[in-house]
Amino acid sequence: MSVVTRFAPSPTGRLHMGHAYSAIRAHDFARERGGRFLLRIEDIDGTRSRPEHVATIIEDLRWLGLKWDGDVLFQSARLDIYAAALERLHEMGLLYRCYCTRAEIAEALSAPHGAVAVYPGTCRHAPERDAPHCWRLDMAAAVPRCGDLSWTDHGRTVANAALAQGDVVLARKDAPASYHLAVTVDDAAQGVTDVVRGRDLFEATHVHRVLQALLELPVPRWWHHDLLTGEDGARLAKRHGAPTLAAMREVGVDGGEVAAKLRAGLRG
Ligand code: GLU
Repeated sequence: MSVVTRFAPSPTGRLHMGHAYSAIRAHDFARERGGRFLLRIEDIDGTRSRPEHVATIIEDLRWLGLKWDGDVLFQSARLDIYAAALERLHEMGLLYRCYCTRAEIAEALSAPHGAVAVYPGTCRHAPERDAPHCWRLDMAAAVPRCGDLSWTDHGRTVANAALAQGDVVLARKDAPASYHLAVTVDDAAQGVTDVVRGRDLFEATHVHRVLQALLELPVPRWWHHDLLTGEDGARLAKRHGAPTLAAMREVGVDGGEVAAKLRAGLRG
């Protein structure tokens, strides 16, 4: 089976070096194996996604010398497909309405309850009412229906999605699909065989593996990579003051050289 990878940025801001690193890793993984590299724009969040960021992302990738195969896939054009997947889970009786506000969830999570901040299930058995709500997956009901939930990272079976924590949000008041649902549906729809992305999404993979089992989707291999860090060891992110790729481009930095340095770091 030929390899297919993807880079899937959310156009809610400008890309920085961490994104460049991730895009290069996914791109090179496919190219080194004669496979395909896809670009997917994860713009389901209508309030935070901006068309100008999409244009900048595309320019950034070209500046780095990365070419993707086929058309760019925009999640905002696929809301009906996510709604159908949501409906299927609904029919399986695995979703419930959650009426909690962000403030209520934050307060519930501040109580001492162990190391992992998970939604405490406040609304799991709440009577239905006519009020704004999101849809959550009843994880305790979902996992036993799934069978084998192991998955591989860097070629080794490392995890079992039965460890998936908490009732994640699958659709929101203002967005018909959450990141978890859209990413799972699209990786399958695009035939992605190998998900190359940052280690910060390792825990999310448990959720994606559960959704694949419930929706009977193919299971890719995962290759979570380390995250670029600044000199102080902290993760390189915008709030860290790291320049965006666009800012580097604007002052005349050579994108090919940036890509070469990131690749040299990979080997070194
Ligand atoms: N859209 C996500 C982000 O920008 C990445 C999704 C993924 O690689 O699974 O963080």
